[in-house]
Amino acid sequence: MTIKSIRRNLITRPIFGLAQRALPGLSKTEREALTAGDIWWDSDLFSGRPDWHKFLDTPPAALSKAEQSFLDGPVRELCGMLDEWEINHTRGDLPEEVWEFLKREKFFAMIIPKDYGGLEFSAFANSEVVRTVASRSLVAAVTVMVPNSLGPAELLMQFGTQEQRDFWLPRLADGRELPCFALTSTEAGSDAASMVDRGVVCKGIFKGREVIGIRLNWSKRYITLGPVATVLGLAFKLFDPDKLLGEGEVRGITVALVPTDLPGIEIGRRHLPAMQMFQNGPNQGHDVFIPLDLVIGGEAQVGKGWRMLMSALAAGRGISLPSLSAAATALCARVTGSYARIRKQFGIPIGHFEGIQERLGPLAANAYVLDAARRLTCAGLDQGRNPSVISAIMKVHATYLMRDSIDHAMDVHAGKAVIDGPSNYLADIYRAIPVGITVEGANILTRSMIIFGQGAIRCHPWLLQEMLALEEHDPQKALENFDACFWAHVKHSITTFFRAWFFSWTFGRFGSAPDTGRVKAYYRRLDRYAAAFAVLADATLLLLGGSLKRREMLSARLGDILAELFLLSAVLKRWHDEGQLEEDLMLVKFAMHRGFAVIENRLRTVLANLPQRLVASVLQFILMPLGVLEHGPSDQVVKRCAEILLAPSASRDRLTAGLFLTPAANANIAELEQAFNLVCETESLRRRLHDARCVDRHDALAKGLLNEDEAARLRESDDAVARVLAVDDFPAEELGESNFRPTTDTDDQRESP
Ligand SMILES: Cc1cc2nc3c(=O)[nH]c(=O)nc-3n(C[C@H](O)[C@H](O)[C@H](O)COP(=O)(O)OP(=O)(O)OC[C@H]3O[C@@H](n4cnc5c(N)ncnc54)[C@H](O)[C@@H]3O)c2cc1C
Repeated sequence: MTIKSIRRNLITRPIFGLAQRALPGLSKTEREALTAGDIWWDSDLFSGRPDWHKFLDTPPAALSKAEQSFLDGPVRELCGMLDEWEINHTRGDLPEEVWEFLKREKFFAMIIPKDYGGLEFSAFANSEVVRTVASRSLVAAVTVMVPNSLGPAELLMQFGTQEQRDFWLPRLADGRELPCFALTSTEAGSDAASMVDRGVVCKGIFKGREVIGIRLNWSKRYITLGPVATVLGLAFKLFDPDKLLGEGEVRGITVALVPTDLPGIEIGRRHLPAMQMFQNGPNQGHDVFIPLDLVIGGEAQVGKGWRMLMSALAAGRGISLPSLSAAATALCARVTGSYARIRKQFGIPIGHFEGIQERLGPLAANAYVLDAARRLTCAGLDQGRNPSVISAIMKVHATYLMRDSIDHAMDVHAGKAVIDGPSNYLADIYRAIPVGITVEGANILTRSMIIFGQGAIRCHPWLLQEMLALEEHDPQKALENFDACFWAHVKHSITTFFRAWFFSWTFGRFGSAPDTGRVKAYYRRLDRYAAAFAVLADATLLLLGGSLKRREMLSARLGDILAELFLLSAVLKRWHDEGQLEEDLMLVKFAMHRGFAVIENRLRTVLANLPQRLVASVLQFILMPLGVLEHGPSDQVVKRCAEILLAPSASRDRLTAGLFLTPAANANIAELEQAFNLVCETESLRRRLHDARCVDRHDALAKGLLNEDEAARLRESDDAVARVLAVDDFPAEELGESNFRPTTDTDDQRESP
């Protein structure tokens, strides 16, 4: 008998039994959701020992020449054609010529390979397009991003048969087909796997021939592009009562391409999502018959729909909403800084008040952080990764940063942002926030269950392997596999524990850090927190086991730490990739200290709520001997970040590069830009008058304080400011009763399947 086999039989075997009882068995859908996508930098962070050199060596996201010229050409042309007020309040839709332009220029085909007639853009190019379009029109951005995100094209490329790709992809690429993705129904929202939409395998007539196919009944809602789609990517539960496909009766979630002109489909009615007029609505199918070869991937993919959806979601949600959120966040920073500079109260620009600077500082930092994280995520995707935990982090935290930013922007603009009308450039972003928070995995669920829940299993160096070993059918093999990973896990835990202890007691002064001068200390502190997080994550998993699934508050806080570690490392990478620009250092400082404060707060609250109090006290002693010491950025740092938004600078331009700020119809932002520039340019003239205590311009001319040219420039600046400060009003009779007469879900003629 070897020492190994003695260990296995005497020590590992009882632990194996305990672990089998403590860890929950995974259901098929849970297993598919958890193992979808892959891992990347998140697993380094989770291990408690991030390799900074490898991280910094990741090539930054970059555009090809063709991608750049698409952004400079069709994207800017599209932005010039859009007028959000008109779309949302007059037309209720994008203009026909915009739909045609989107199809002709292949905006819906960014992810489709060139061989099929698509643009075959990188993730970063896709993201840049959505970001620029979103800075002009959220409606257009949502319309563009849906076919390029989770939907038929993505599913066909990953799982379709060659025949399906050859038929559908060219038609999707040139706009003959407009796709949507139909998963959500009345019963099944977040718990999409509980849908009752069903398909039954049977024989039927399709295009004059008798074939084996599926008879479908469904009732979906909230489907973006649904009302105008020509093909649905439809998810349903498949049953085969007559065993025509040969195996069991319950075949599971399946995804098929369903042309919307088939008999039995009701489609076309619209929802009004927060009064944002992108196409969104319900659709139903009553005994719709499709041949089996419309199942994506054909018979081989029958019943594998959930895995397909989870895998496709992993990439899409790392791009679409984060790009839209990055646009909104950068735009809020830019316009709020400009407005705070041109709007005066008590005789000075409001941006000089500390109360306003307290809002401008986070606006600037949010824009920096979110764009850093967006670029890092795209860099990972463009390396061929499909990081599901990172894309969940991005979805939640990008939309939360967007919400934080628009709240600050609204508060600073005050009445100007409250009064609706064509000259209000913030109200639509404000209204649209809950849409971003809800779609592609509602935030509360994703934060509370997925980020740490999935992160722990996917990114932990040993946990998934242990769980898979526990589920192994052959008992001897199961024990052997478990023994190998369990002891590797123990070794990892012990080394991480001592690492975390040392780093915590030395306040992160000795962590590993690449030689990057001014921010070296930040790498070290991230190292410290990553080690502390790894210890706490291990302890929580050990103490709570399967019951952690129900302790969502603990899971959410641990997820917040992982998310902060990701966002902050993205900030350091951005600073590194951009050449360590001194002028941006304040933004880095703000982001790091705010993030450290969040991490320390979450560490403390997890420890305060662990049920095993003795263990919690020991961990507190090891990981946070003096409690919470980080209180966020200093007032000085906040002020310096605010100042970046209050005057023209390269730093300010970097924060908002690529946004559409050009004059166009109802381009109130372009007017604000002009007013801001004029106010900044004429600042010295105003100061001259102020120093001479001269308030009257005629007087100033008479006394020679201003020449004619300077007086004209001041008038021009005053007029531009007046135009921006104006708000809209309407004839009372125009604000009559709404023309919309809704029906509710319960009015629908839903047939029970
Ligand atoms: C404008 C819009 C566009 C959409 N587009 C599409 C589309 O194109 N295709 C499509 O298929 N679907 C689409 N959806 C559906 C969207 O994905 C769902 O709305 C979303 O999944 C949430 O479902 P629900 O709204 O029914 O909320 P519910 O599932 O009822 O959730 C309500 C709340 O409970 C929380 N929650 C649920 N379970 C848990 C849990 N276990 N722990 C903690 N919190 C929990 C959620 O986070 C949420 O805050 C769209 C929705 C909207 C509003």
